[in-house]
Amino acid sequence: MKDRPTDKGRRDVLKQAGRLAVLGATAQLAPSLLAIPGVSAQAGGGRGAGPAPAPRGTQLVLLGTQGGPSVNLGRSEAAYALTVDGRSYLVDCGYGTLRALVASGIAYQQLATIFVTHLHDDHTADLAALLTHQWTGSRSEPTDVYGPHGTAAMVAGALAFFKANADIRIVDEGRTVRPEALFHGHDLAATAAPAEAFKDQRVTVTSVENAHYPERSRQQMPYRSIAYRFDTPGRSIVISGDTAYSKNLIELAKGADLFVCEVMDLTIYETMMARAKADTDNGNANSISRHVAETHSTTADVGRMAAEARVKTVVLAHLLPGSNRPGLAEFPDTAYIEDVRKNFSGEVIVGRDQMVL
Ligand SMILES: [Zn+2]
Ligand SMILES: [Zn+2]
Repeated sequence: MKDRPTDKGRRDVLKQAGRLAVLGATAQLAPSLLAIPGVSAQAGGGRGAGPAPAPRGTQLVLLGTQGGPSVNLGRSEAAYALTVDGRSYLVDCGYGTLRALVASGIAYQQLATIFVTHLHDDHTADLAALLTHQWTGSRSEPTDVYGPHGTAAMVAGALAFFKANADIRIVDEGRTVRPEALFHGHDLAATAAPAEAFKDQRVTVTSVENAHYPERSRQQMPYRSIAYRFDTPGRSIVISGDTAYSKNLIELAKGADLFVCEVMDLTIYETMMARAKADTDNGNANSISRHVAETHSTTADVGRMAAEARVKTVVLAHLLPGSNRPGLAEFPDTAYIEDVRKNFSGEVIVGRDQMVL
């Protein structure tokens, strides 16, 4: 079935409405406004034109929809921003996230809560950049980073990375707050059954271990990969993280309004499996091709999981190939949608950077 024009039109309307809601009334600052003393577009998208009324409700912005470690100009690496009644939460922080936040109008300076699905670099590469710019931008409130085993150590590593920056500016600019007083990493348990990971007045976050790391790898390392569910007063949104078909994820996603799931086109899967077989024949059983083929979800897997969880809408993100096809055109949306719909009859949306849902 073709991606109906009405779907696209509706998405465009949703996108515009959502963007305006996220941005408040000052989405675009005219150059003339920037000349007024005290009005600035700098420091984390702080728009400076007076406080906009906090938008109500829940919006999800797809900040980065490229699958895998790939720096390209079409899509950023994985990241999502959930905004609930004007407060934003970041999920994953792949390369390009900081610029994507600025583009979306979400003030990165204000982000206090960050969730990481796993510690592959296409989900974390901008974390040190984000935290150090929060500090240099004079953030004075804590920022907490939650994720599976290794997250606390990664945040400590980010602090080590920008220690010199802090030392210089403390001497040079009279700053008094040390970064280690603000930035904290927290390791979450990776559980088979949904377990509460975080809760405040706006959102309850639940997580499970997904199926990104095969058993043979899990046995040799403490690292785990998790999926998150965000329940707000109005909506339920699940972010799959990177995963192959996962019963745990299906349980987490039961009845969700939005199921944001990673996806790999079937042709990529077939190519990778063929390469993995050739690698195995050559004595390399743990090749990158095997990793890609076995640890991600095909369009068929996504459709099965969405149907079994009875979600309302599937949003495809972490796209493989996405824009990582040098010299070739973008993969057509219809190729992804048709294959997911073989198993799932609900709405399917192919994610793009800056899409607001
Ligand atoms: Zn990834
Ligand atoms: Zn990964």
